[in-house]
Amino acid sequence: MIYQGVYRTPSLWCRLHSTYVRKMRYLFKLKEDDGICRQAQNSGTFYLFHNLSPFVKKVGSKYLAPQISVAEMKSMLGKFKQNEQMIEDSVLIGCSDECMAYFALDLGSLEKSVIESELRGSFTELRKAFFQLDGKDAPLLSSAQALLRWHDTHQYCSKTGQPTQKNLAGSKRVCHTNGIIYYPQMSPVVITLVSDGSRCLLARQASFPKGMYSALAGFCDVAP
Ligand SMILES: [Zn+2]
Repeated sequence: MIYQGVYRTPSLWCRLHSTYVRKMRYLFKLKEDDGICRQAQNSGTFYLFHNLSPFVKKVGSKYLAPQISVAEMKSMLGKFKQNEQMIEDSVLIGCSDECMAYFALDLGSLEKSVIESELRGSFTELRKAFFQLDGKDAPLLSSAQALLRWHDTHQYCSKTGQPTQKNLAGSKRVCHTNGIIYYPQMSPVVITLVSDGSRCLLARQASFPKGMYSALAGFCDVAP
């Protein structure tokens, strides 16, 4: 009994630990090697966005973010008479425990309503869908949206004004005129819950969905 107790815990820990390490190593490889990343795109799954709004399906009172296979992607792009190369505009956002890569792609250049009826769902503003999303989808879509937004606003080198190119995974952009590499930024934020013990201060914006309130938050300023 004692032996089993001692044995079981480290073995579970090792298994979880090794899955995490394996995933991180795989993601690192995809970020560093366009060739391996291209292979992963051909067997991966895609989360779709339209001008930064994620594609979701309403199931009961919940929103689900469907993962679109590469075959579905190709068939859809074919219907829009778009080149399959558009798939390479996607960015890597994670992978499953079995190392199947997840990508996000913004189809803002295509007609929104046609994609919505083709895939039977809707592009919904993330803030409005957030609290009705499935647990694992909310953080994944948030980081995907942040990365897509970063690429959208960093298409030019701030030194030379020349276009920057993303690597296949979308983990960086490079200006080939002067070799500057741009990496996605992190913006530190603070969120505060003001309370007097039994009550707390919440606020809402007119654009929030009905019944949604938030604690007070803001970006950190560099000024002293
Ligand atoms: Zn430059």
